[in-house]
Amino acid sequence: MSDTYKKLEKVYEGKAKKVFKTDTDGVYIVEYKDDATAGNGAKKGVIQGKGEVNNRVTNHLMKLLEGRGVPTHFIMELSGTETAVRSVQIVPLEVIVRNIAAGSLAARLGLPEGTKLRSTVLEYCYKDDAQGDPMVNEYHIAAMGWAGEAELKTIAELSFKVNDILGGHLKNAGIELIDFKLEFGRLPDGRIVLADEISPDTCRFWDAKTGEKLDKDRFRRDLGGVEDAYREVMRRLLGQD
Ligand code: UDP
Repeated sequence: MSDTYKKLEKVYEGKAKKVFKTDTDGVYIVEYKDDATAGNGAKKGVIQGKGEVNNRVTNHLMKLLEGRGVPTHFIMELSGTETAVRSVQIVPLEVIVRNIAAGSLAARLGLPEGTKLRSTVLEYCYKDDAQGDPMVNEYHIAAMGWAGEAELKTIAELSFKVNDILGGHLKNAGIELIDFKLEFGRLPDGRIVLADEISPDTCRFWDAKTGEKLDKDRFRRDLGGVEDAYREVMRRLLGQD
């Protein structure tokens, strides 16, 4: 733990993270858990060491993105599993970015997993567990007021930029970026920043040479070697175990 920010009461607990208030206005502490769920909570388990991997990998990638001009909520890493972030109002959308068909897209369109897409696909899902995070489009988002037109334009532009930056960075680590999910938030002044996490929980990472899955699909699909795959991603990106 750091003495930079004092951890106060918990304001939220989700499936993979807890969020705490701090003694500093506008700053929250996120704590990553080893708990894992899949299929909207239908499958539950623990992935030993996942909290640390997701915390460290997310922070590594958020710092990279900040340096390349993508605004994020990241402030500083406090411990293996804890990070100080700017508190934001989360835009209730999951933005899915796809380079290669996998998962729900492969199933929906009847494509073999691994089919290269001619161009990058953006999808939006409305964040609502009770409804199973339904896919929505720009018209639903405008009609429901989930994000303004200018905000959504910013979100889409930033998402493509994140894809370009991460794709190149991961390739250097021998990892192919298949698809991933992003979330965005609003700062008090209304600016849109990248929030949440970027980790093997929220991305599909395939070994660039062998195609081996290095992400949460190992847990979702009972492929075994889950902990090792998470560690391997951290090792390749941060050079540490
Ligand atoms: N994803 C996520 N949270 C969700 C749904 C999807 O992080 O609630 C990520 C998932 O890890 C993958 C990408 O978004 O990298 C696309 O997921 P997909 O729509 O294929 O859904 P899935 O097959 O995981 O149900």
